[in-house]
Amino acid sequence: MGNEETVCLGIESTADDFSVGIVSSDGRIMTNIIDAFVSPEGGIHPREAARHHSEVAGRVLARALDEAGVSMAEVDVIAFSQGPGMGPCLRTGATVARALASYFEKPIVGVNHCVAHVEIGRLACRMEDPLTLYVSGGNTLVTAYEAGRYRVFGETLDIPIGNCLDVFAREAGLRPEPGKPLGAIVEELASKGRELVPLPYVVKGMDLSFSGLLTAAIRLLRSGRYRLEDLCFSLQEVAFAMLAEVTERALAHTEKGELLLTGGVATNKRLRSMLEHVASEHGARFAVVPKELALDNGAMIAWTGILAYKSGLTTPLGESHVRPKWRIDEVPIPWRS
Ligand code: AMP
Ligand code: MG
Repeated sequence: MGNEETVCLGIESTADDFSVGIVSSDGRIMTNIIDAFVSPEGGIHPREAARHHSEVAGRVLARALDEAGVSMAEVDVIAFSQGPGMGPCLRTGATVARALASYFEKPIVGVNHCVAHVEIGRLACRMEDPLTLYVSGGNTLVTAYEAGRYRVFGETLDIPIGNCLDVFAREAGLRPEPGKPLGAIVEELASKGRELVPLPYVVKGMDLSFSGLLTAAIRLLRSGRYRLEDLCFSLQEVAFAMLAEVTERALAHTEKGELLLTGGVATNKRLRSMLEHVASEHGARFAVVPKELALDNGAMIAWTGILAYKSGLTTPLGESHVRPKWRIDEVPIPWRS
């Protein structure tokens, strides 16, 4: 390895965001351009999002290289999010990665999106060995490193928490605005809630289920008997308490000294304060990944690409097909053993 600096260009395209990040092996984020697809109705249609990605890819790439002040010749390796995610979206990113790699004769690394969220969090928050709660529009995961892999200590059995909040918000007639996702609008309304309306709290073993909670909340909404503010407040209280319970048990079980919170839902202040409390009860250091690195972004893919590349891992072109259901606990993590 020596002192040789490695530069990696990372492409993220698992869902609604197309992003290119460029990172060097000393942990410097040279650029991280995110272009989000916002559909007028909210929600993500995989093929519409994929079309967005292919339309903006060239522009985002050019801007990233320009802002980082590097040419393709100075890029040593290309990383892309190989999964999990939406097939059409993933394929767009993979195609861009493969085209660049073969034209410029660079090695490529297929990165697991969930691993990338953890690794950029460790870098940004200077954490050694955290338990991580990753909560977003597409994922709900409690994970920590043990014996060569990121093990799953809890996950959703049905829909992700971000999706639960988004679907409820859409049912309530709310619409996302640029820079203000549906979850943030729910949070704003929830802060004006006064009454805790009973809703189903579903934790099974270490796993979570949000679909019954969502259905019940929608039923109460349609009944017209409750203020929307109270329903937003109650939905958040119940869903976040479920997340906090599973996270707390995982923390007690693994005895990790650090708790990391990441993903789009990590911007929520109520969720943050609940988890901060959990961490302090167990004497663990708590950190939230800064927003631009907690959202889906190319820098996290690039950084994880560097970690993999430096431990001798690359992805042969013939194995670079996308993996929409790729689980975090299937991925070997040689850089931590
Ligand atoms: P990601 O999937 O990581 O891109 O994050 C998007 C998800 O985060 C969507 O489900 C958003 O509604 C959700 N989100 C964004 N801001 C907030 C917030 N302040 N509170 C709760 N959820 C949020
Ligand atoms: Mg996103």
